[in-house]
Amino acid sequence: MNEKENELENEEGAEGEQGPRVIYLDYAATTPVHPDVILEMIPYFTDNFANPYSLHSCGQQAKGAVEDARGKIGNIIGAASEEIIFTSGGTEADNLAIKGVAYANADRGNHIITTSVEHPAVREACKSLQSKGFEITFMPVDSYGMVDPQAVKKAITAKTILISVMFANNEVGTIQPIAEIGAIAREKGVYFHTDAVQCVGHIPINVEELGVSLLSMSAHKLYGPKGVGALYVKDCTKMLQLMNGGEQERNLRAGTENVPSIVGFGKAVDIAGEDLEAEAARLTVLRDALIKGIQEKVQHTRLNGHPTKRLPNSVNIGIDFVRGDSVALGLDVEGVAVSTGSACSSGNAGPSPVLLAMGLSKDDARSSVRLSLGRDTSQEVVNYVLELLPTVVARFRKMSPAYDKFLKEGGKGK
Ligand code: PLP
Repeated sequence: MNEKENELENEEGAEGEQGPRVIYLDYAATTPVHPDVILEMIPYFTDNFANPYSLHSCGQQAKGAVEDARGKIGNIIGAASEEIIFTSGGTEADNLAIKGVAYANADRGNHIITTSVEHPAVREACKSLQSKGFEITFMPVDSYGMVDPQAVKKAITAKTILISVMFANNEVGTIQPIAEIGAIAREKGVYFHTDAVQCVGHIPINVEELGVSLLSMSAHKLYGPKGVGALYVKDCTKMLQLMNGGEQERNLRAGTENVPSIVGFGKAVDIAGEDLEAEAARLTVLRDALIKGIQEKVQHTRLNGHPTKRLPNSVNIGIDFVRGDSVALGLDVEGVAVSTGSACSSGNAGPSPVLLAMGLSKDDARSSVRLSLGRDTSQEVVNYVLELLPTVVARFRKMSPAYDKFLKEGGKGK
């Protein structure tokens, strides 16, 4: 083990009962649950296990905890607590927003505008509506993955009932001009949904300033538990529930609330709110050092996504002459966890639809790797990855006929 590896081993903790510690750079896929979140949740599995809809005092205590979390989550996005509807995660929040508005407003129109770079939760919800007779416009994006607000404005027709544009992309990190689109949606009287799953707890958000009527969130992206999320539903938004049953969650989401997870979500939001801007600034510095370092140390690479209007923790790099999945596996063998893009589509060998929509060729899309940073990412981690990555890339390039040809031709044309 060299000196650097030794340093890191000490920093990351020695090999424990669960095997060697991994350098985790896949926070966009999910985050570890914060230890204080776990502590906050435990009593709601043990002593305070009651149903929040029960009238007895134990039930009322559980209800109080749910309402407390609702208030905290509303607070971090500038919403009233009554405007927060708990769901089973970001996917359900997206589906509820899109289908809930579509079905409730079908008498006014059947047209929905979204983008070509949405998470599958939005994309597939829209496609499902398309198969039921709704008209969906999938707006193109530029080479940074950015949608043009004026093009969105032009796409609005008398039949448009909803615009759904993600806040920041989960694969490339590009942040969309949400406030501009929100102003257009308001002016035209169209509901506006944003999938902010990658943003809540990471960058400042205020629903009033953004002009959104619906906003999706998920706890596991901000050091909370998996399987719980929320949808902000602005007062007066005409919605239909998707699941029939009890009257929970303003009659928009039937089913007994997942009390421990909701409590954990509230605590995670509380913790994120304590140093949101400082942590975003810290990660931005590390993100930019990682991007610059990769570009200096590995030839023939390109940054995917916008250079500055991007999430503080998000790096997505195209590496010519190798496949992203090979590099990800090569890093994994060395104890570094990264991904090729969305965790929801890995296992699907096709190139990322997001990168294709940004104009990348299939080969370039397949050559991309996503490194997403988080609470445990330090300068030492960045330095270590910058030492390791060139070796891993060189290993795979040695096996690449395209790279061989490129070198034989004098290394021109890239
Ligand atoms: N939307 C975005 C942008 C995401 O990144 C994800 C998760 O990766 C989701 C929605 C789905 O959230 P969940 O995993 O909570 O269902």
